[in-house]
Amino acid sequence: METRILDGKKIAAAIQAEVQKEVQQLKESGITPGLAVVLAGDDPASQIYVKNKTRTCEELGMRSEQLDFPADVTTEELLDVISRLNEDDEIDGILVQLPLPAQVDEQTILNAVDPDKDVDGFHPVNAGKLFSGHFTLAPCTPMGILEMLNREGIALEGAEAVVVGRSNIVGKPMAMLLLHQNCTVTICHSRTRNLPEVCKRADILIAAVGRPALITRDFLKEGVVIVDVGTNRIDSREEVVRLFGEDSPRLEALDKRGYTLVGDVHPREARGIASAVTPVPGGVGPLTIAHLMKNTLVACKARRAEAIYTGS
Ligand code: NDP
Repeated sequence: METRILDGKKIAAAIQAEVQKEVQQLKESGITPGLAVVLAGDDPASQIYVKNKTRTCEELGMRSEQLDFPADVTTEELLDVISRLNEDDEIDGILVQLPLPAQVDEQTILNAVDPDKDVDGFHPVNAGKLFSGHFTLAPCTPMGILEMLNREGIALEGAEAVVVGRSNIVGKPMAMLLLHQNCTVTICHSRTRNLPEVCKRADILIAAVGRPALITRDFLKEGVVIVDVGTNRIDSREEVVRLFGEDSPRLEALDKRGYTLVGDVHPREARGIASAVTPVPGGVGPLTIAHLMKNTLVACKARRAEAIYTGS
């Protein structure tokens, strides 16, 4: 079977172009959507993620504000800044980059974000609305994936969907969104018995585990659509050869950067069995950022509806 590559970059660019157009229209009526990103500590990966988010925001014409804190920041200091951002009418979205330093009470911080500005969709109010099937700001990675599946014409109604991973950020909200689209959903995790057999039932398989190439051909039904959320760094030449082959350009990337990225799905074993698969990188990552932009726009339109419609 020929395996279609679901090009996350292309779909993300289309979503962003739509957001940009709407932002332009809002700006003409004097409203500029604004996103604040709170970054604590000096984790290099978080710094890159935050830079990508604020840069994309500005490229689309939105305002972005980055608030940096040292690694020894306290819960109280972060609560103060969240409170200020909640009150700031120019800020429509607040994103707290995770993970926070160990001494900070992460849940207290996330709970302090105004649910109307919670563009990550992590606040319990928004998680509850998603669970109940009400319109809400929902987490960006699963929302981006759903939008991709819809735009690619993947049939969801009645399909068997298996989600591997049950985090609050990806697995659980993904399962809820698929359920609301009338999929028959199974959620798997580290205690699931006979994972390959359960995955083999899937018409749509979402892998959000964080284990390089865990999903091999034994997990796959012919024709399955695979969404590989996993983003894992590998730095062993042997492992790169095992997963990508002797002649893969990934070996050059390894020499240049010291690592390459692999998903939770074996990159070569899925080809020929799956009908469609997202690549890593270039699949789910860009969709996540695109949906953050969309959530910021949605939050802005909801918060400032009166000003938009009355022009005041
Ligand atoms: P978490 O670590 O929070 O959750 C991982 C989940 O996988 C847990 O539910 C865990 O089960 C399950 N799991 C772990 N090992 C196994 C196993 N051997 N078999 C079955 N299930 C297993 O991760 P996240 O959900 O935050 O992220 C998952 C992956 O997605 C990571 O690689 C992350 O980097 C990536 N990611 C990518 C994004 C993107 O934009 N591209 C965005 C967010 C995440 P249990 O609950 O029992 O411990």
